Amino acid sequence: MSEIYDAVIIGAGPSGSTTAHYLAKEGFNVLLLDKFNFPRDKTCGDGLTPRALQILDDMGILDTINQVGYRSNKLELISPKGHTATAPLPKKENLCDYLLVIPRLILDNIILERAMASGANFQAPVRVMGVEQEGDTMFIKGEQGAKTITFRARMVIHATGANTKLLLTTGLLKKMPQMILTARTYYDGITSTDGAAQCRLDNVPLPGYGWVFPVSATSAGKMAAEHLSHMFAIGDFSVKQLAAFDKLLRKRYQQLFVLCDRLRLLYLNHLFVNHVVRAVARSEELMNLFMNIAVENQNVYRGLAPGTIAKVIFEGMPGR
Ligand SMILES: Cc1cc2nc3c(=O)[nH]c(=O)nc-3n(C[C@H](O)[C@H](O)[C@H](O)COP(=O)(O)OP(=O)(O)OC[C@H]3O[C@@H](n4cnc5c(N)ncnc54)[C@H](O)[C@@H]3O)c2cc1C
Repeated sequence: MSEIYDAVIIGAGPSGSTTAHYLAKEGFNVLLLDKFNFPRDKTCGDGLTPRALQILDDMGILDTINQVGYRSNKLELISPKGHTATAPLPKKENLCDYLLVIPRLILDNIILERAMASGANFQAPVRVMGVEQEGDTMFIKGEQGAKTITFRARMVIHATGANTKLLLTTGLLKKMPQMILTARTYYDGITSTDGAAQCRLDNVPLPGYGWVFPVSATSAGKMAAEHLSHMFAIGDFSVKQLAAFDKLLRKRYQQLFVLCDRLRLLYLNHLFVNHVVRAVARSEELMNLFMNIAVENQNVYRGLAPGTIAKVIFEGMPGR
């Protein structure tokens, strides 16, 4: 029989590898599995926010990443009609005041190598097809080429990103979520951005958006490892303990998601978005709010009442 790992993590993207690093650092016997050999590419804008950089710093790999990434310290918001609002990245205590752009082909491999240096095991290509539980043991069944392979663990972590197949198979996801269409491409010789990361609402069907990052994923992974360490420490793997992690995630991120959802509804209207961008360009407070939303900072509402935001935006609307 194969050895029993403390945790098997399915998916070696930023979430999986970050979780593996923190668990292995605590002395847990961790196995990371991925259906691809690394380095592997992943469709992404390649932008790292100051919060993501903070975690990478905590993992001890920020210096390495700084050497290969491209720094951008300003953001530009572009309305459907071409109005622009540009500002430097907000300065926050203990956070970098720049974004880093680094192709995922490179970034994910650096994070994976960090996890392995911390003691995590890695096997690929292994496509996990199913997860079953017998008593206290989880059985992870995968395909390695033509071979079927089974691993045993006390805990399984799904870190399979936007891929829903395994979540549906295991019943963790009841139905397929609504699909959205995304695309990523690299261009040479673009000089018009002047080093700014651009959030573009022009030439896209709203509520879609585009990002342009000048080029020369992770805090959830850290939280997952902390929660899992706690579960191991108290020896409680109950559904209640797992649900506590869900609550923790919601507490940390729900406010941001709700805010983003509301904004999405607003920017269905071209005319409105044109005015928002012009209002943002005029008001330092609004500019600060939008820049914080763009880099996913928490508690972005603080100090700015929704009424004030609406007043500043609607002041410039025709007929007001
Ligand atoms: C167009 C686009 C632009 C984006 N731009 C940005 C950006 O600029 N900045 C940003 O922070 N985020 C951006 N994102 C989001 C970001 O890409 C994801 O949030 C991030 O990759 C999630 O990391 P993850 O580790 O959870 O999943 P992933 O990076 O997707 O990793 C999941 C891993 O699981 C593996 N896997 C899946 N199923 C199985 C299986 N059955 N068996 C074994 N292995 C499996 C996959 O091979 C993969 O390596 C963008 C996304 C898109 C689509």
